[in-house]
Amino acid sequence: MARQPQTQPASAPPPESATTPGNPSLHDANGILTIDLGAIAANYKTLVARVMPGECAAVVKGDAYGCGIDQVTAALSAAGCKTFFVAHLSEARRVRAVAREAVIYVLNGFSSAAGQGFVDTYARPVINSLVELAEWDHFVATTGFSGSAALHVDTGMNRLGLSIEEAAAIASHIRSESHHIALVMSHLACAERPDHPLNDQQIRQFREIRSLFRGISSSLANSPGIFLDPSTYCDLVRPGVALYGGNPTPRKPNPMRPAIEVKAHILQVRNVSRGAAVGYGSTWTARRESRIAVIAAGYADGVMRAAAITEGKSPREVLVAGKRCPIVGRVSMDLMALDVTDLPVSAVRRDQTVTLIGEGLTLDEVAEQAGTISYEVLTSLGRRYHRIWKA
Ligand SMILES: *Cc1c(COP(=O)(O)O)cnc(C)c1O
Repeated sequence: MARQPQTQPASAPPPESATTPGNPSLHDANGILTIDLGAIAANYKTLVARVMPGECAAVVKGDAYGCGIDQVTAALSAAGCKTFFVAHLSEARRVRAVAREAVIYVLNGFSSAAGQGFVDTYARPVINSLVELAEWDHFVATTGFSGSAALHVDTGMNRLGLSIEEAAAIASHIRSESHHIALVMSHLACAERPDHPLNDQQIRQFREIRSLFRGISSSLANSPGIFLDPSTYCDLVRPGVALYGGNPTPRKPNPMRPAIEVKAHILQVRNVSRGAAVGYGSTWTARRESRIAVIAAGYADGVMRAAAITEGKSPREVLVAGKRCPIVGRVSMDLMALDVTDLPVSAVRRDQTVTLIGEGLTLDEVAEQAGTISYEVLTSLGRRYHRIWKA
């Protein structure tokens, strides 16, 4: 495997949260986002053990699913991870700065204009079409770049990747000539639904592709794919969300450790009379004398606007002093309201924090209450929390 010459230690220690640029101080922030790097490393090791002797990579696109690409990459490198997947070259630069020797794949592909960026970062593009392959071949031929690439073949998702027919047509060239293809991969569209018929179809088609590209490493599984069937492991698995504590086995107990906790401050507690409405659009009306806690977190902090109470839907909840309280009215950009009427008056005070995710209120539960998935909740958390990376 082509490696960059080692010039610095394989991984740098995670930066101090207080000195991380763009991380507001505890007193400037609306709340606290704690990222448990130990849990992320433990989740990585759980997956490593599961797919052995296959290799386990880590997907750290989207700022490591909102958890901090620098800190997460350093923690996973220390846990033994040697291969990282990102979406963009800008993300590859961040990974390279922390993981000097790692193999880095850029999922969103290759273009001639980005060529120099791949040289600078010694990253590997994931080739997603014949046009990209032609540009890559030309780039390698004209620059003499020694780096490698992955070839992405579509097996039914119809997002990115060469068609199976295209892959079959070029397979013999790829194997005999110097295209620097180090990995052949595909992506599962429905792995989180084990009974979906597309899974078997994709697994079967990828088996054919692997035989066309015999001798080249292969990769198919994302997080739920790893829990679908061992036939998806191939040479390399590409988990993302499971590392960050998302459940890769929906509707079954989560085998991963929770990795994030989100808390926000109470700005004030107010009394609302029976019949009075709360928030934009007056969508929630108090049916009794109510006490409302106004929280310093809104949709700019990843609390989905769709999360608010609507008739006929179970409410989204937040933990106040360990008790679940519903979000009432519309979620604003920076604020939301909780009905805390059922709590003792002394249990809810200004400046106290409430828990949006954590203490048994799981990421997946919060996502489901908001009508979305853990991935979107993680990547929407925003930049206003004071972030603490726990070793
Ligand atoms: C995002 C992504 C992954 C990781 O998916 P998870 O479901 O988060 O594990 C793997 N492969 C590709 C191609 C991706 O785009």
